[in-house]
Amino acid sequence: MKPEKIVILTGAGVSAESGLGTFRDAGGLWSEYDLQDVATPEGFARDPVLVHRFYNARRANCIAAAPNLAHAALARLEQEFPGEVTLVTQNIDDLHERAGSRNVIHMHGELMRALCAACDHRWDAPPEMAAGAPCPACQAPATRPDVVWFGEFPYQMERIGTLLAQCDLFAAIGTSGTVYPAAGFVAEARMAGAATVELTLEPSEVSGQFDTRQHGPATETVPAWVEGLLA
Ligand SMILES: [Zn+2]
Repeated sequence: MKPEKIVILTGAGVSAESGLGTFRDAGGLWSEYDLQDVATPEGFARDPVLVHRFYNARRANCIAAAPNLAHAALARLEQEFPGEVTLVTQNIDDLHERAGSRNVIHMHGELMRALCAACDHRWDAPPEMAAGAPCPACQAPATRPDVVWFGEFPYQMERIGTLLAQCDLFAAIGTSGTVYPAAGFVAEARMAGAATVELTLEPSEVSGQFDTRQHGPATETVPAWVEGLLA
């Protein structure tokens, strides 16, 4: 039976082949920073200049990066699949959108957006954000990247829960299965009776919960999987 509603969770593995690293990778931008300093509300309160410098560097990397064949295949799936395709991404880059995906939920926020901690106003982030810059809505010097930090609640969880409860196919792509609540999505989808597939470089922490799994670079496994779904 062909699926009608597909929910796809994507993680760092999808953007890794576009050159965007994570805290798990040794070397580069990431090795200079401690996660506690740059990805927690406490770290931001302590040293907003350092946090903005880190995200300004990540934003520059993102602008310089290009979507890869995995992003392109997922955009094609959304455009050509007769049913409903929703991407839920843990990634804060905009490579899904730049590849052509439109139905994207950024559960961990967006590098290209700014948030006012005082009034919750959101706007497009300039390439370089500065600590203490005034919010365009309320003028409070409380502007921050619109990203979800450790200790903060991911975005749109209610909508994601509804989508998982209604989907008949759930795929997790390029996720390590170590970060909750995303690591629990496969269990939610299974409870709803969905078929589940994992496409990751290596088996994830929750690999055993999936019906099927394919391991390899996302730029190879994802286009082949999409080809199969559209065939
Ligand atoms: Zn404000």
